[in-house]
Amino acid sequence: MRVSLKLFVTILVTMFCGQQLLAQGGDGKLRIIVIGAHPDDPEKVGGTVHKWAQMGHDVLLVSLTNGDAGHQSYKAKELARIRREEARRAGEVIGARYITLDNHDGQLMPTYKNRLQVIKLIREHKADLVIFPRPYDYHPDHRYTGTLVLDAAYMVTVPTILPKVPHLERNPVFLYMSDRFTIPVPFVADVCVEIDDVIEKKIDMYHQHTSQMYEWLPFNSGNLDQVPATDAERREWLGRTRKSGSNAAPYRDKLIEQYGETRGNAIRYCEAFQDSGYGTRLTKENLTYYFPFLKAR
Ligand SMILES: [Zn+2]
Repeated sequence: MRVSLKLFVTILVTMFCGQQLLAQGGDGKLRIIVIGAHPDDPEKVGGTVHKWAQMGHDVLLVSLTNGDAGHQSYKAKELARIRREEARRAGEVIGARYITLDNHDGQLMPTYKNRLQVIKLIREHKADLVIFPRPYDYHPDHRYTGTLVLDAAYMVTVPTILPKVPHLERNPVFLYMSDRFTIPVPFVADVCVEIDDVIEKKIDMYHQHTSQMYEWLPFNSGNLDQVPATDAERREWLGRTRKSGSNAAPYRDKLIEQYGETRGNAIRYCEAFQDSGYGTRLTKENLTYYFPFLKAR
């Protein structure tokens, strides 16, 4: 009797609330988790997460490692402290929490222990959408982040795995961030979000990563001498270099499909996502539910 009453209530709520029920938190808010390997990796989708955050949805950014390896002068412990603080500030730019785990940079492995960390994060955030890198990448930490999330994708719904953290009733949508790698298979955009209107915010997020944008990355690529001295000059320099060319060309057909001929052709900057094929599938029917700003254009 109790079961049938529950079913009856569920049908009623479904009729009146429609897709609201899709949200895992039960409050109509989408809950998005972006899982990267390093502090500054989730920023790859900074424009899109900013759009979600602006609409009141709940965004959590995660770095699985503490970034304690990539710097020319800092010792590991000090670097981890700096990177955690830079990430926290980057999240603050868009009003999102940013968690940096204490796994060592350059040493991430797809172990069961790390899989449980990922399952815990996804469950505790009650994620509707999980965004992460494909397991094809030049950097082992990126590859294993992809593998760890794929390995967690089904397990987040299995009650006997990590039983102390309640399992998810509904499997989230698991989306890949874009990349340029073609072996063994190239990235295919299932959805592409225009970010021309929020590109400055995305650069503001990167700007918080002083030890990377203005120290390690220029050192690593041999142009440390080009980095300006003051904060304002650095922000301007970063913006200029990041916006030096449109990134939309590979996604033009998708942009025209989504935004129409005129707008689709005019977009300069965008962020693309691919359905990993695991978890809940992204469909034509639920696309604007998960990406509500596509509907509001
Ligand atoms: Zn990285």
